[in-house]
Amino acid sequence: MADKDKNDIKLERMENFLKRVPHKIMVLSGKGGVGKSTVAANLAVFLSNRGYKVGLLDVDVHGPSIGTLMGIVWQKIYPSNDLLKPVLWSKNLKVVSVQFLLENPDDAIIWRGPVKMGIIKQFLSDVDWGELDFLIIDSPPGTGDEPLTIAQTIPDCKALIVTTPQKVSLADVRKSLTFCKEVNIDVLGIIENMSGFVCPNCGAVHDIFKSGGGSELAKQYKIDFLGKIPIDPKIVEESDEGNLLDKYDGKVKEIMNEVVDRILKRLSLNKGGEKVMRIAVPMAEGELCAHFGHCEVFGIVDVEDGKVVKEEYLTPPPHAPGVIPNWLAEQKVNVVLTGGMGPMAQNLMRQNGIEVITGVSGGSLKDVIEAYLNGRLVLGSNVCDHEHGKGHTHRH
Ligand code: ADP
Repeated sequence: MADKDKNDIKLERMENFLKRVPHKIMVLSGKGGVGKSTVAANLAVFLSNRGYKVGLLDVDVHGPSIGTLMGIVWQKIYPSNDLLKPVLWSKNLKVVSVQFLLENPDDAIIWRGPVKMGIIKQFLSDVDWGELDFLIIDSPPGTGDEPLTIAQTIPDCKALIVTTPQKVSLADVRKSLTFCKEVNIDVLGIIENMSGFVCPNCGAVHDIFKSGGGSELAKQYKIDFLGKIPIDPKIVEESDEGNLLDKYDGKVKEIMNEVVDRILKRLSLNKGGEKVMRIAVPMAEGELCAHFGHCEVFGIVDVEDGKVVKEEYLTPPPHAPGVIPNWLAEQKVNVVLTGGMGPMAQNLMRQNGIEVITGVSGGSLKDVIEAYLNGRLVLGSNVCDHEHGKGHTHRH
């Protein structure tokens, strides 16, 4: 009876904890050595550097490496009152790894399925995580007991899949995707790691092997492609020292920041951390209107979790300098997609915390929003930027 009570308390504590964490991300890979733990650790560090409160949980029972990658392998989690204290990596980042339970970090662990499941659940019920915005879970490669336990215990967690560009890895990714479908968890996206090589001399990224397999696969399965991280010998050197990519300035840090931006966008988190993305598009005659100040109405959509949850059309007040940016801010808009916008209006938008994307060409509200959310918006020049409008074109 007493045991049952204890289990009930644990279960309740776990449920209460999980309910309070808005974003849980399990990092998966088809096979080992593709950089899954490197991505998990860097994602946790980059998010925490942006002010989010992050928990990083390493459930790779047979090959835990988070402690090694972060240079904290000798740390221990110790009991405090009824709970276990996670290792504090920084103000915003708490880390728990199976490695921290071992007498010697190189000890082999032989745990059977039920024991593994027990320990993973204990990490969720008995650790004093405090308040978190993100829980990042590094699971072992493949689709065994650990990811299954996570998927069953945290049904609203999302999977982030790491692969390398080679065919063998991509075949394994398909298995990971099937796994996610079977256990009914949403796939956040795919990251292609070790894709191309950062030249130590010129700093440019060279594709030494074929790259782009991950993006092909993402397209095929209609999943977000979150970016390509090149091979950089610095990653190995720095991780041997327990340093992560935030510590040195270079191409890979820039790329990792872009990956984090895409993840936040996919989760509909803007830079202020609000959950809903509210996008405004100036429109006339049911189409995107090239001149922002001359539109009849604004099509405004709310996006949550990458999906449109509300759509409305609002008429702005009469055009006068500075009026519309303030009005959009009052409507709680945080992104504007437009053909053109003058520099003064752009400044006012920025001051109001609104991101402005110019150079968007026509289409219905649905077309424009879909292209934006799928990362397929083709941008031309800002039609109001008459001096600099030399027609650069790039994909957003
Ligand atoms: P996994 O978790 O998939 O087994 P790890 O994250 O432990 O893989 O990475 C395996 C090794 O590869 C580590 O030594 C790591 O430092 C190195 N590594 C990972 N990504 C890169 C990269 N983009 N460039 C260079 N080395 C990398």
